[in-house]
Amino acid sequence: MAMEEILSDAALDGPLHAALTQLDDAAKLIGLDDAIHHKLRKPKRVMMVSIPTAMDDGSTQVFTGYRAQHSMERGPCKGGIRYHPDVTIEEVIALAMWMTWKCAVVNIPYGGAKGGVVCNPKEMSVGELERMTRRFTTELVEVIGPEKDIPAPDVYTDAQTMAWIMDTYSMQKGYSVPAVVTGKPIALGGSLGREAATGRGCVFCIREAMRRLEIPMDGAKFAVQGFGNVGAWAARLLEPLGPKMMAASDSRGGVYNPDGIPVLDLVKHKEETGRVGGFPGADDISNEELLELECDVLIPAALENAIHEGNAGNIKATMVAEGANGPTTPDAQDILNDNGVFVIPDILANSGGVTVSYFEWVQGLQAYFWTEDEVNERLERIMVRAFDEVYAESQKRSVDMRAAAMAVAVGRVAEAQAMRGIYP
Ligand code: NAD
Repeated sequence: MAMEEILSDAALDGPLHAALTQLDDAAKLIGLDDAIHHKLRKPKRVMMVSIPTAMDDGSTQVFTGYRAQHSMERGPCKGGIRYHPDVTIEEVIALAMWMTWKCAVVNIPYGGAKGGVVCNPKEMSVGELERMTRRFTTELVEVIGPEKDIPAPDVYTDAQTMAWIMDTYSMQKGYSVPAVVTGKPIALGGSLGREAATGRGCVFCIREAMRRLEIPMDGAKFAVQGFGNVGAWAARLLEPLGPKMMAASDSRGGVYNPDGIPVLDLVKHKEETGRVGGFPGADDISNEELLELECDVLIPAALENAIHEGNAGNIKATMVAEGANGPTTPDAQDILNDNGVFVIPDILANSGGVTVSYFEWVQGLQAYFWTEDEVNERLERIMVRAFDEVYAESQKRSVDMRAAAMAVAVGRVAEAQAMRGIYP
């Protein structure tokens, strides 16, 4: 399929529509040069590969995988790999584009990439997942690498997946290359603090925003859609600052208690039962109901398009902190703005993960590792600086935080592109 077709099919709806609309709006806001704007609307490179995989029952299943590299203007590409039945090429391109802006907004020297395999990991054995991952890595071996493109975990991939990618890549090269991925197990050169980093970064942003909006921490209430890595860590780190979690959900539904749900107890319940539903002392609640609860902070930390034109008007939270990538559609953002909801956009709110991934890559290249306190302190410095810069931009231009974050990020990428020029 031609790139034009993919981009025009996406013109109607979905995450790529959202990503392109956000870029176009930012281009208008900062008066972006037309040539650079056109270049940034398209990914630099998209790989689509077949992944034949031996299944446990003796059959062979051929999965489809993608890796989109949006931009390398500011350094190697960086971005996660997602295993999900709904992965599409358009989604992967959109997520790659968001990675470019995310790395730029926190000012780390990377461009953006994303990968995905269309599969249902919940129905696959560990052996099947390992074989699929190793074959996918082999197909990507020419385009990834510590100086080219560095994958990381995303939805339904984890440290074990990264270990398989690192091992497969290293076997192909003939020597160990730990810096080819981040989000690795600690034993293979993973960074302390990486697992909690996205949730921690999100909480630094929430804390800064609550200060600006003068919302007291004590007595504040929050709700989390998607109690996975990002959502659960954000909840675990926000609760000790004072706010109470009144609701949380996963793909099978949610739980609600207006007096508060102890976060660690829910983590334990989810570990034991595999879901948040059925938590003792809380009522069941649907994902839709959770989004519409009256609370101070709503953390959408599941998938894209959770807050859309149909439900944005019902959001009663004072603040939305986007743990997930692309949880708010452009139409929904307009409605939230009209209703005075303060949105900390994904490229800022969830950039703690890529920031500590950057630390992991730096530590791996130097073969010199930091303590967890050092990681967390450096993360806090970067997140607070990025929040301050975006907030100042939003005040200066009288725009919402997403427009401000995009203006900062696109401005940085455009400056790098202008200095490099268009080759040849
Ligand atoms: P995860 O798989 O650990 O957790 C996702 C959670 O969302 C799971 O609990 C799942 O059950 C739940 N979920 C899925 N569909 C849902 C639905 N329709 N309604 C409610 N809950 C649903 O994944 P994660 O790593 O926490 O990623 C979550 C989001 O954060 C994704 O958008 C991802 O791209 C983004 N993100 C992750 C990181 C990271 O470091 N892991 C960094 C930046 C952004």
